[in-house]
Amino acid sequence: MEKVVIIGTGCAGLTAALYAARANLNPLVLTGLQPGGLLTTTSIVENFPGFPDGIDGYELMARMQKQAERFGARVKFATVDAVDLSKEPFTLTVDGDPLQAETIIIASGASHRHLGLDSEAKLERKGVTYCATCDGALPMFRHKPLVVVGGGDSACEEATYLTRFASVVYLIHRRSDLRASRIMAERTLDHAKIEPVWDSVVTEVLDVKQDKVTGVRLKNLKTNAESTLDAAGLFVAIGHEPNTCLFKGVIDMDKDGYIIPKKGTATNVPGVFVAGDCSDRVYRQAVTAAGMGCAAAIEAERYLADREH
Ligand code: NAP
Repeated sequence: MEKVVIIGTGCAGLTAALYAARANLNPLVLTGLQPGGLLTTTSIVENFPGFPDGIDGYELMARMQKQAERFGARVKFATVDAVDLSKEPFTLTVDGDPLQAETIIIASGASHRHLGLDSEAKLERKGVTYCATCDGALPMFRHKPLVVVGGGDSACEEATYLTRFASVVYLIHRRSDLRASRIMAERTLDHAKIEPVWDSVVTEVLDVKQDKVTGVRLKNLKTNAESTLDAAGLFVAIGHEPNTCLFKGVIDMDKDGYIIPKKGTATNVPGVFVAGDCSDRVYRQAVTAAGMGCAAAIEAERYLADREH
């Protein structure tokens, strides 16, 4: 029987692991399919305190894991298939095997949102991608025009990163101004290789018949005019969706699937806590996720201590 099982190894999960480990709770941390979480797909993280020159996202997560393991956290590459929270101890099905836990911290993060186009799905990994850091350097994208969709910090970051490889980066946004933070927006719009395309959406990824990305079809939302752009790749950066479907119907969540904490990081099920992007639709920063992870571990520790007494 585990005292604390943490689902997820992003900033929230690994910070919860650090605190739970230092409280001698010997936490088990389950990675899911993306060990280290979304931050591992970021290039330079410039806003995590303590790193004045920025730090590579993958390295930051590797360091967090090492720090948690130093105090006894056990990180296991495993996926949770199902949970039974109807009675204590809780039962998780992990890669087909049952696992019992006195407390659970849900830190399952979020995944990339898709445009929802048929052609997008058909050309995924054939030029359609959701991660410039992971795929941008591929030979198929080098010295070619590339398209990024989105208007937030992620889209700006992706577009800027891709300028290393692309001949030109078209930034397609459905509005006429970016919602990204000012510093990111200015850096992006000032870049000689980035060409914004305002008030426009991608209506089709070309060319399914050729089984690879050759361009995109666009629609201008103000004029309804249609056009096409030649491009070797489409990088979609339009936000995220919380990874919470495992808990649907059991843990309280809003209409978009973000878990709603009852008080602090406690959920509606006593003994189950939540931290990070799977319950945060407002801040969604590495440092806020880490803070929530810390709080969830402290609350789990107090919950276990209360039960013992
Ligand atoms: P976001 O801020 O939610 O922005 C998503 C963008 O995609 C918005 O511009 C949105 O348009 C657009 N969009 C959403 N659905 C769309 C659709 N179906 N078709 C076309 N466009 C669509 O997401 P994000 O950029 O991933 O950022 C998420 C959070 O992470 C933010 O809090 C951000 O500050 C943070 N972040 C920070 C950094 C950094 O500081 N280094 C880097 C990356 C992310 P509208 O503007 O019209 O809604």
